[in-house]
Amino acid sequence: MTKNVGVIGGGQLAWMMALVAPQENIKIYIQTPHETDSAVCLGERTIFAPVDDVSATAELAKYCDVITFENEFVDLEGLQSLVTEGVCFYPRLTSLSPLLDKFDQRSFFQSQGFPVPRFSLYESDSDFQSFSFPLVLKARRHGYDGQGTVIVKSPLELQSALEKFKQTPLLIEEFVPFEKELAIMAARSATGEIKVYPVAETYQENQVCRWVIAPALINQDITEKISAIASKLLVSLDYVGILGIELFMKNNGEVLINEVAPRTHNSGHYTLDACETSQFAMQLQTITGKKLGNTRLKSSGAVMINLLGYESAQSEYLPQRKEIEQLGAFVHWYGKTESRQGRKLGHVTVLLDEKSPEKMYHQAQMMIEKVESIWYPQR
Ligand code: ADP
Repeated sequence: MTKNVGVIGGGQLAWMMALVAPQENIKIYIQTPHETDSAVCLGERTIFAPVDDVSATAELAKYCDVITFENEFVDLEGLQSLVTEGVCFYPRLTSLSPLLDKFDQRSFFQSQGFPVPRFSLYESDSDFQSFSFPLVLKARRHGYDGQGTVIVKSPLELQSALEKFKQTPLLIEEFVPFEKELAIMAARSATGEIKVYPVAETYQENQVCRWVIAPALINQDITEKISAIASKLLVSLDYVGILGIELFMKNNGEVLINEVAPRTHNSGHYTLDACETSQFAMQLQTITGKKLGNTRLKSSGAVMINLLGYESAQSEYLPQRKEIEQLGAFVHWYGKTESRQGRKLGHVTVLLDEKSPEKMYHQAQMMIEKVESIWYPQR
């Protein structure tokens, strides 16, 4: 039987979900204020309204069996009234509630015994006393792609960061001297079935993700530790849906949770081409009561490279996309009409066939170099 799923948000995550929806026998309904959003053309219907417009979500709910999210910019209190009227949200609002604010997230994980970096609320300048430079300042809410995160190396930089953030509620945390950044996608259904994806390595430049390699070149103990964290976290949140966990790995093998995104995530884009069930299909399966698919890789590994904007322009970048495709890559272009510095315009996945993990890592690095040299103007 066809199910109708509402998605709050219409960007590339909703678009990729809408692309796989027909295979799951699902129709997608979107709520977004932007007519040019990627997902709009694929949805059965779009409610054009801001993502935190609760009356628009009430309208969306009329068409849908269940509503899910593509971003964290939601009005939880407002949506609670719809739950009372019988609207079904997955993930549940109670699962989202500790996750939408970075301070609440850290506090929740700490209270549940998960490893996190040392952190504190910023209320007055004396809160900096227990931190030394470098330290990290983060907006508690609405930060994405590093927009709300500043790595502060000196008192002068601290002053300008505080001026930049002005009235924004902030959190202070220790700078973690990580060896690698890792990420894992994990999913849970309403019956409690859990699936975790391979642990991937992610690489950020200026706080924006440049590439992801799956599986990460780490030892089995760390993979198992992270998979166990993911499963435990899903249960402790009584979570239904998919989530992405970003972690820091130190050179002594210690892992700390950086952040949890209660939705599909950039670090899981490789699953679209490389896994038996993509993160987007998995999200739909978890929220519509299906048996969950397999998360296995279809090849030895995969590398995902983001195509980030590097200029302000209106271009489709067709020649570069064609050239990248000729490398044997899957190119996903989000159809955004405007490019700007650091904006995610698309991504590329290349399947890796080397059997030895070291050789595969090398193969991935070569691919990153090739794709980036085609995509970015020579630096
Ligand atoms: P966003 O939510 O915008 O993605 P994050 O808080 O995940 O921002 O930070 C983006 C990137 O900044 C991280 O992937 C990491 O590279 C760096 N970063 C964030 N917090 C820390 C930290 N405490 N120590 C070291 N690097 C950090």
